[in-house]
Formats: sequence, structure tokens, C-alpha cells
Amino acid sequence: MHSETSAPKEAALYVVATPLGNLQDITLRAIEVLESVDLIAAEDTRVSRRLLNHLGVRTALTAVHEHNEASASARVIELLQRGGSVALVSDAGTPAISDPGALLVRRVRDAGLRVVPVPGPSALTAALSVAGLAQREFLFLGFLPPQAAARRRALEAVRGLACALVLYEAPHRVRECIGDLTDTLGGARELLVARELTKLFEQVHACPLAEAGAWFDADENRTRGEFVLVIGPPPTAQDGALDEALRVLRLLLAELPLRQAVKLCAEITGVKRNLLYERALELKSAEGAPD
Ligand code: SAM
Repeated sequence: MHSETSAPKEAALYVVATPLGNLQDITLRAIEVLESVDLIAAEDTRVSRRLLNHLGVRTALTAVHEHNEASASARVIELLQRGGSVALVSDAGTPAISDPGALLVRRVRDAGLRVVPVPGPSALTAALSVAGLAQREFLFLGFLPPQAAARRRALEAVRGLACALVLYEAPHRVRECIGDLTDTLGGARELLVARELTKLFEQVHACPLAEAGAWFDADENRTRGEFVLVIGPPPTAQDGALDEALRVLRLLLAELPLRQAVKLCAEITGVKRNLLYERALELKSAEGAPD
């Protein structure tokens, strides 16, 4: 295997993804980089020290968070210009994704120095990987504004987009956010709740937005922990036509042999015969009735 960038001694800022919860989710390359750089710039040095202790890494740490990113960038750039190497980490997941780091990355690049990604976990990709979205396109919104009015405006601005929406949300706001999602986007869109990914109480639940409030209310533990919310795309006119075709198909199947029901349904609704045939077989086998 080709591993051109495995030795991180080169003067560069390495942007290193760290585990979301399960400490096993760290790449071999991330460990190698964290061990061999001169300095680790961390969102919260206490949080990162715990991970580094677990890994047996003794590299020096400095804090780079949203309140000191500009001044810390100057120090990091100075070190890189002297030929040093620095790793950037956040508390969990990939730095600069709804986390500090983007300003540092930009300043380092603007100074003509190298920025190297060391990819790994992110709550965004972990949630999408289990969302089973039929469609490829999604829009990542990060955290919505905390104020209800601004949150609704943000959702109204993206309501009509024909793609999935992905949000991060805090536990104390998740229930309120579900109310706003349902009111602005409608109850028919599918919601995937990805809670506490890679941790002890990991939970992945999918339901229509209309049922999400009741699902959260059924168990207070469901509003605890960390959340990614994935909202499926709005139903299309084609989805509506298919729903109607399936209604007609059910009625015809109750009266006619399968082939004839499929043929008639295709003629009535204009939906493709192959698709109806597959659905008819599924309906029949769900009923357990012989064709
Ligand atoms: N940069 C991080 C990443 O790449 O995932 C995200 C940082 S952001 C400050 C933290 C938010 O990410 C949490 O509020 C939650 O929405 C989401 N998150 C982080 N860890 C998670 C987990 N284990 N399960 C579900 N969501 C998580």
C-alpha cells in the first residue's frame, strides 16, 4: 500500500479526526501523527489529554478554541515557519466541522504553509452512513440558531430543497427543534435520529416527522446525549403517484389474479408494470396468501 504522507515530520498543520465516543475509533495514522508532531493544538486540552493518555502519547498541548483562534493561529504559524509540525484536534470527531479550526486552517494556508487532513470519525458521516438515504444529495446545516424564531426562518429557507437535511442538535433543545421541524417541513418527511453514536447508549431510530414528538415523549432517555438529525427529502409528486397506485393495486388484488391486477393497475395509474409486479408479490407474501 502507498503511504506517502505517513511520516508527519514535515512542517505542516495536520488536521486530525479523533473518536466520537468509542476510543477504538482512532486511525493508526492519527496515532502516528499525534505522537510525532511538535505540538497538538486542542479545542480543550483537558479533553484531549484524556485521549492522549489512553494512547500513551506525550506530545505537548496548547489550547485553540473559538475565543483565541486568531492569536493561537499566529503562534502555530510561527512554529510551522521554523520547520515544526502541529496537529489540530477537537473534543470529538473532525476539527472545523461545527468545531473550531477553520480560521487556523485558513491562516496557515494563506501563510503558504501545508495543511494535511488526517481523516477519521465525524458525527455527520457516521449518521449518514446509517441513514439509508435513497437519494445522494444532502445539505449539512450544522447547529441551527438557538432562538426559536431564527431557527424557523433557517428551516423555512431550506424547506423547498429536494435534498435531505442534516443537523446537529443539543440535548436540551432537541425536543423543541423537533416541533419546529414538523411545523416548518411537514409531518410526512422521514426523520432519522442518530443518538450517542459509538457510545454505550447508541440509538438510531427512523420515523415520519409527524411521529417524532411522541417517540421522544415516550421515554425521557431519548432526549439525552448527543444527536444528529437527518431529515429525508420532501415527498415528490412521483411518491404521491406511487402511493395512489399501491392503493389501487391493493383493491385490485383483492378481486383479481396477480398478473391481471398488475396489468390493470399499470393501465389505470401509469406506474411501470415491473415496479407494480414487485410490490404485488410483496403484498401477497406479506398476506401469506398463495398466488
Ligand atoms: N466536529 C464534530 C464532528 O466531526 O462530528 C462535531 C462537533 S459539534 C461541536 C458536536 C455535535 O456533534 C453534537 O452536539 C452532536 O450534534 C454531534 N455529535 C458529536 N458526537 C456525537 C455522537 N457520538 N452521536 C451523535 N451526535 C454526535
